[in-house]
Amino acid sequence: MDRQLSVHFRLDEFLRSRHYPAIAARMRPTQREIYRLRLLCHTVLEPIREYVDRPITITSGFRSLELNSKLRGSSRTSQHLYGEAADLVIAGCDLLDVFGFAVRLPNAYQRILYLTSTTVARPRFMHLSIVPSAVDKVPLLALKHSGRYIPCTVDGWLEKYREICRHS
Ligand SMILES: [Zn+2]
Repeated sequence: MDRQLSVHFRLDEFLRSRHYPAIAARMRPTQREIYRLRLLCHTVLEPIREYVDRPITITSGFRSLELNSKLRGSSRTSQHLYGEAADLVIAGCDLLDVFGFAVRLPNAYQRILYLTSTTVARPRFMHLSIVPSAVDKVPLLALKHSGRYIPCTVDGWLEKYREICRHS
C-alpha cells in the first residue's frame, strides 16, 4: 500500500510499528479509516509540515486492535484505532515551538505533548487527533507526564510545562 494521503504524507507511513512490525504489516484499514487519515493530514499535519518546512516522522498512526493491545499505556478507545490520530517527531525541531503552533490550529480535537519523567525538558513526541464525527466534543489540550494527563489551555500550556519541569 503506497497511497498518497496528501502532498507530504503516504498511507504506508501510518501503518508502521517500530516494536511490532509483523503485526503492523497485517493491518488493513477500511476506506472510512483511510478517509479519516486523509482528513488528519489535510487539517493538522500539512499545516505543521508547512510551518516547520522539514519532514515529519509519524511514530504511530493507524493501529489495529491487535497492535493497540500490545502497546503499553494505550487506551482501549484510542483514536489511533479509527485513523483519527498520529504521534510524531520532527528531527532538528524544537517540539515546544511546534506544539505552540499546533495548539492554535482549528479542527483538531486532542493535542497532547508527551513528556518523560527522566527528560522532561525534552518532550519525546506529540500526539494529535481530529474528531470528524463528533463536533460537539470538548477539545482536550494536555501535557502527558509520567503516564498522567495534565489538562492545559491554549494560552497557559507553556507556563504549565515550565511548572512540570521545575518540579521534576
Ligand atoms: Zn498517540
